[in-house]
Amino acid sequence: MTDCIFCRIIAGEIPSDKIYEDDEVVAFLDIAPVNPGHVLVIPKAHYPDLLVLPEQLTVQLVMVAQKIAPAIITGVGAAGFNLTLNNGVVAGQAVGHVHLHLIPRFKDDGRELWSGQPYPAGEAAVVAEKIRKQL
Ligand code: 5GP
Ligand code: ZN
Repeated sequence: MTDCIFCRIIAGEIPSDKIYEDDEVVAFLDIAPVNPGHVLVIPKAHYPDLLVLPEQLTVQLVMVAQKIAPAIITGVGAAGFNLTLNNGVVAGQAVGHVHLHLIPRFKDDGRELWSGQPYPAGEAAVVAEKIRKQL
């Protein structure tokens, strides 16, 4: 028996409120939603994070999110949504089975996003070059 919570949900060992399923992808309600209708979109196959997810499944995952988003929006009466992925423990990934969060947003729901800070002068070019050199 796997100790991956999401693999156990897929196997039916842990109940979930499933809203979508195809051969490769499942979507179900997050047990602790940021807002009502918060859905997790996951591949049926176990991949720990986005960096090891095969391209075809990455495409499939996003396509499913795109397909079900209107139903979620209309279903819960939301005005928009955030599509997020926490990659790595430091980024807040608690479950090591890659998943997209589709979070419905409501006007004035108070779910503030991070605020950014401008780079000090010249720093953006340095950072961009560091990244380009790794590609
Ligand atoms: P992460 O922090 O890894 O990006 O997100 C994991 C998400 O999985 C959390 O939002 C958490 O509420 C949800 N979650 C954890 N355990 C369960 C579970 O047993 N069932 C469901 N439906 N969601 C879960
Ligand atoms: Zn898993």
